[in-house]
Amino acid sequence: MFIGHYGLGLALKNTNTGIKLGTAILATQFMDLLWPIFSLTGLEKFSIDPGNTKITPLSFEEYPYSHSLLGSVLLAVGFAIVYFLIKRKGKAAVVCALLVFSHWVLDYITHRPDLPITYSSVEKVGLGLWNYPAAAIITESLIYIVGIYLYFKNTKPLNRKGSVLIWIFVSLLAVFYIMNLVGPPPPSVEMVSYSALLLWLFVFLGYWIDKNRISFHSDY
Ligand SMILES: [Zn+2]
Repeated sequence: MFIGHYGLGLALKNTNTGIKLGTAILATQFMDLLWPIFSLTGLEKFSIDPGNTKITPLSFEEYPYSHSLLGSVLLAVGFAIVYFLIKRKGKAAVVCALLVFSHWVLDYITHRPDLPITYSSVEKVGLGLWNYPAAAIITESLIYIVGIYLYFKNTKPLNRKGSVLIWIFVSLLAVFYIMNLVGPPPPSVEMVSYSALLLWLFVFLGYWIDKNRISFHSDY
């Protein structure tokens, strides 16, 4: 899944945890933000295989550290601990852990059985929604649209930047999503990894947006 993870991050402004947008995006996308780093350093492996599922031309061969069930739980706990040490807010730290773990749940629904259970397990799981393009696109788009709706409902701009930046954020992601769906398969594994690294920019954009919008719940 791609923009669905961002939809969940945006939706979080509907809660009273006060977690910032940048933090929420970092949490929901944490597994995919680490994945290109692990791939580029040789810890994990994928290849380009058009038709792997009807939606994605990527074959995720080995990605236990970023995408196994065990890995996702450890990343969620680690994220929450660091958040708690910095912010000292228990409830928000728990929500952060759930947001990190939500990535695995959404990927479990969309991926073919390529998600390992532990770092070394042979057994892999995934319900394969990506093999049903219409259902996959509708599900993911709905999560994204509801997330955007809730974000706008629960925040308002403090200035012009606050109005413009959020639209840049949501439109760019929508364009990337559409390009992934209709574009040709990527030319190389390195190209995929480097473009995936660019998604870190959306974390920083999220913090920048939050600085220029007021939430109806306090930020901490
Ligand atoms: Zn993922």
